Amino acid sequence: MQSELSYTRVREGLEALRMTSALSVLDNVLETARIDELPPVDVLDRLLEIELHARHDRRVETNLKFAGLPYRKRLDDFDFDAQPSVDPDLIQRLSTLRFLEEGTNLLFLGPPGVGKTALAVGLALKAVEAGHRIFFITCHDLVGRFRRAIRMERQERLLTTLLRPKLLILDEIGYTPLERPEATFLFEVIAKRYDREKAIVVTSNKSWGAWGEILPDQVMTAAILDRLLHRSVTVNIQGESYRLREHRRAGLSPRNLDLGKEVHSQQPTDQPS
Ligand code: ADP
Ligand code: MG
Repeated sequence: MQSELSYTRVREGLEALRMTSALSVLDNVLETARIDELPPVDVLDRLLEIELHARHDRRVETNLKFAGLPYRKRLDDFDFDAQPSVDPDLIQRLSTLRFLEEGTNLLFLGPPGVGKTALAVGLALKAVEAGHRIFFITCHDLVGRFRRAIRMERQERLLTTLLRPKLLILDEIGYTPLERPEATFLFEVIAKRYDREKAIVVTSNKSWGAWGEILPDQVMTAAILDRLLHRSVTVNIQGESYRLREHRRAGLSPRNLDLGKEVHSQQPTDQPS
């Protein structure tokens, strides 16, 4: 009788605490415990482990939805042989995510198609799986979101979106020149994250020296680079586009394909230093 009452109260308690996963396995765990004659502490241990696991998985799923990643390719799928200018040991060290705790920025520089975004995405997935919030946005989309935010007087909200995540990925800086209000906003994001020791991953087709071409003036360029580079690791990636290489391997000539952007981008005048 007493035990029946306790059982009902445990169910109600788990429900009130929203421990839905523990609740759903409660009967199973109790039955196993009875058969295996497990001590009470082991029963609690099992229930909590199941609940915590499920919560972690749900958080990862939510964070993945929020992340805005363009695709979900893992670092394990990165072909290091195809990209000798990327040091696998360095990527391995970065994948421990110590850089997140230190607030170290990562800068992947190089011509199109060499794997800058792929490496940023791979590290972002690691961070999400470790339970962190991340946010990925291209510079082009950032400009669009900023202009919309201005119209709707929601800059603060956009700023929060960019400041709150443990990791921010700014993809493809260098294609879109920034006007003064946009550049000022970008500076604010970079400076505030710097102050809070929160990491940013930047990918760019432009070397530092060329950032002046996309920002309104030298003072702004120096101020942004100062924050970005102070605690940072730069990975210069060279070589040909992985996509074009794959096409070539398949015996297709880029000239015969409608590869518009990629073919065009095969003529970078702006090699990273
Ligand atoms: P970018 O340097 O322009 O950001 P991406 O990272 O988007 O280039 O790479 C272009 C495509 O090629 C992506 O689908 C990416 O996953 C793939 N890719 C690039 N480099 C590699 C690599 N070394 N191994 C496996 N896939 C790669
Ligand atoms: Mg890219």
